[in-house]
Amino acid sequence: MNWTKLEELIKNEPGFRIRQIERALFKNFYDNWNDLNDLPVKLRNLLADEIDLSINGQIFKSSDSGSIKALIKLDDGLIIETVLLMHKDGRNTICLSSQVGCALGCKFCKTGEIGFKRNLTFEEILLQVLFFSRYLKKINARITNVVFMGMGEPFFNYDNFLNSVKFLNDENKFSIGQRKISVSTSGITEKIRTIADENMQINLAVSINAPNDEIRRKIMPVADKYKLNELISSIKYYIDKTNRKVMIEYVLLRAVNDFPEHAEELSKRIKGLLCFVNLIPFNGNDIYKRPSIKKINEFKKILSDNKIPFTQRYEFGHDIKASCGQLIFSKSF
Ligand code: SAH
Ligand code: SF4
Repeated sequence: MNWTKLEELIKNEPGFRIRQIERALFKNFYDNWNDLNDLPVKLRNLLADEIDLSINGQIFKSSDSGSIKALIKLDDGLIIETVLLMHKDGRNTICLSSQVGCALGCKFCKTGEIGFKRNLTFEEILLQVLFFSRYLKKINARITNVVFMGMGEPFFNYDNFLNSVKFLNDENKFSIGQRKISVSTSGITEKIRTIADENMQINLAVSINAPNDEIRRKIMPVADKYKLNELISSIKYYIDKTNRKVMIEYVLLRAVNDFPEHAEELSKRIKGLLCFVNLIPFNGNDIYKRPSIKKINEFKKILSDNKIPFTQRYEFGHDIKASCGQLIFSKSF
């Protein structure tokens, strides 16, 4: 769905047309121009010829019944993955990809393994939301939350990411509150400062993943460029500017970053920050392993003793490879 082209096509129409179209596409989630019977036939036919509303997607349901993964084929044949997490409390969270692949090559992440293919346009980011909005409409449900935690580094596709957030938030379009939108970054400090200056209310998550630069460099090549001290000071800047609580993501890797002294070191580093730690036990079983439950509990106890708030990420979709770090660029459906 090429929104820029659509706006161009209707630029000489009366102002209310755009509202009719927005309502049809982003509130009623129509996928066929014929359904827009309040438009003049001539305009409807023009739009049908010029703007394709179909989305080439394939769905995989998890046996946990709470998560669904979609593979969406883009116009150039590349495929992205998007995950829908249906929570028991009625929240439906969509996990969006911002790039095809990722250039950052974190050692524990499957998306990192495949490398970078290209950035998504803002429309391709939104296509994922449209796809699952149409799906949920059939069961009388809607997307309530959006997280940019799929394939790619959103802050390396900053303009398209930001445009898509504005589009999601726009009350005439998806009308999703900024506080229901979260972005996760591997820690691109200059962009953390830039987003802090945007005056937005979205939630920021930062993949710290290690208590010091030495361990971080081993698992995240991006840590060569961005040191933890600078990363933490950019997070402080963000908090000062926005007064929003930041999520510190920490992937727990057995015998790499899960020792009690790591929990102590992490606590010291982030003490006093308006933040909470989100622990993500490693998904997968290859060069890395997931820590034992005992080890995870020990880690949590130390955070507690240091009065560092934390949560553990609820896990969905292992069987359909939809969990964190398992999204890969598929070559075919
Ligand atoms: N590129 C962004 C957003 C996508 S990754 C980022 O790195 O923040 C979303 C989260 O999944 C990150 O916190 C990342 O550290 C985590 N993750 C990646 N691979 C994982 C894996 N195999 N197991 C558990 N978490 C993983
Ligand atoms: Fe890229 Fe995030 Fe995966 Fe690292 S964890 S390779 S930054 S998607």
